[in-house]
Amino acid sequence: MKQSKLFMPTLREVPSDAEAVSHQLLLRAGFMRQNAAGIYSYLPLAKRVLSKIETIVRQEMEAAGAQELLMPAIQPAELWEETGRWDIYGPELMRLTDRHDRRFALGATHEELITSIVRDELNSYKKLPVNLFQIQMKYRDERRPRFGLLRGREFIMKDAYSFHATQESLEEEYQNMFEAYTKIFTRVGLEFRPVVADSGAIGGSGTHEFHALAAIGEDTIVYSDQSDYAANLEMAESVDQYAKQEKSPAALEEVHTGDAKTIEAVSAVLGLPEQESIKTVVFKTEQGLVMALVRGDHEVNDIKLKNYLGALDIMMATDEEIEQALHSTPGTLGPIGAEMKIVADYAIRALTNVVCGANKAETHYIHVDPSRDFAAEYTDLRFVEEGDVSPDGAGHVKFARGIEVGQVFKLGTRYSEGMNATFLDEGGKAQPLIMGCYGIGVSRTMSAVVEQHYDERGIVWPKAIAPFDVHLIAVNGKNADQMQVAETVYQELTAAGFSVLFDDRKERAGVKFADADLIGLPVRINVGKKAPEGIVELKARRGGEAEEIQQTNLLEAVR
Ligand code: ATP
Ligand code: MG
Ligand code: MG
Ligand code: MG
Repeated sequence: MKQSKLFMPTLREVPSDAEAVSHQLLLRAGFMRQNAAGIYSYLPLAKRVLSKIETIVRQEMEAAGAQELLMPAIQPAELWEETGRWDIYGPELMRLTDRHDRRFALGATHEELITSIVRDELNSYKKLPVNLFQIQMKYRDERRPRFGLLRGREFIMKDAYSFHATQESLEEEYQNMFEAYTKIFTRVGLEFRPVVADSGAIGGSGTHEFHALAAIGEDTIVYSDQSDYAANLEMAESVDQYAKQEKSPAALEEVHTGDAKTIEAVSAVLGLPEQESIKTVVFKTEQGLVMALVRGDHEVNDIKLKNYLGALDIMMATDEEIEQALHSTPGTLGPIGAEMKIVADYAIRALTNVVCGANKAETHYIHVDPSRDFAAEYTDLRFVEEGDVSPDGAGHVKFARGIEVGQVFKLGTRYSEGMNATFLDEGGKAQPLIMGCYGIGVSRTMSAVVEQHYDERGIVWPKAIAPFDVHLIAVNGKNADQMQVAETVYQELTAAGFSVLFDDRKERAGVKFADADLIGLPVRINVGKKAPEGIVELKARRGGEAEEIQQTNLLEAVR
């Protein structure tokens, strides 16, 4: 590819609204442009990187026995209603209506759609197991699209779904996918960690997230400095940590996440303006009612909250019970005592920092009965901190920030039961299909790689996913000798199978070198003053000195 022809609109200045390094660099180096919040066009350089990542994903998925298909992005609402997710998924699901008033969702994920295909076509245990994957745009109306491709509203995902007759078969495939993911993320050049995670909104039991280690990461990973233990913070703090507490949070008997009525009632009492993002959590304790009102820039996912608090043995109260509780305790609203706050704080932290992934939330508490000495009972209720002995008893806790680039789930029968997707077992009996699902954020991975591979001059692509293998630069594009030698090198390298970006522009050398550093191809060849003697310069982007080399030895050196 001749650079004079390449569509690569670079920018001199760091775009002011781009916080993340990867976002800045991918914009500056002409890889992408934003079209709307969280929605991007991938320009030619980015498309080449994405294709390479996708090839690696395809190769490893196919080597692991999965088959590629392609499903529609537009999915009928009825399918989402079968599993209840049309309501549960909330505003993150983008919805649309056709000219006949039929309702659709833009695919945020494809469990419903794939299950509907498989239930109609796959009826016998003899055809199981099967693992089907696709690489496709996904749509999620994220409340805070940010950090460029790291949290987009339209993004590229590889999603795979496996179907099994037995739990053992699912376990096997889960392990198989875990290994495939390990190979994929290693090949794309990421430093990553698989961590135990909670199963959240998607349901099911047993899941790992794969995190690329990076300061910009929105997740906190808890790991041991001595053992293999690694979990995301919500997991480390919920089940593991609580199981170790002598005292269970028995005082938290019931919890309720806010329906519109409760929110209205509480907002009125506190004189708060109507605010879409308000959610309430009501804890019915042995002593009375604690209500936490969470305001802030985040989502509370009810199902995820239920799962999370479920792990703490907290029951959900019904709407009527809450209504009743609210009305049966008039006049008892007031500022919360320190005791109650400890209990509520734990839940609020669970809600905001951990469950919702939000960084901050404003909270108000309403309490009922301060007579009990909660402070005494909850002195050792605390969060996992760095330096703690860890959850598995080996070594000490360390924290790291991570970008979730992939996740593997054992779904079980959550979707097949909801959608009546069954197969006939050996005895001819209908059983619900046992499922797994496995996602990789392809566009997020590209950005995560940049977060780990850059310096003050620009991106430093790992070889495996660089947009081109070699950057060939005619130092003085107006010099006929240099252009001629560069052209020869270009032909030779291309014929030998290298992808070469040939900077044939008539720009100043300084401009060319700066652009080359910014784009970050792994190997650079400068054809300069010594071109007439057949000598060129070879330089690795990663650093080190340029070395002079005979043009005739070049092929070997580049290999
Ligand atoms: P997050 O916790 O970051 O919101 P998620 O857990 O909701 O991600 P999954 O449903 O597990 O995401 O989807 C599989 C993969 O898709 C994720 O591991 C991530 O790499 C990618 N992904 C999810 N949401 C986005 C997004 N908004 N932009 C880019 N990639 C995303
Ligand atoms: Mg999400
Ligand atoms: Mg997640
Ligand atoms: Mg996930």
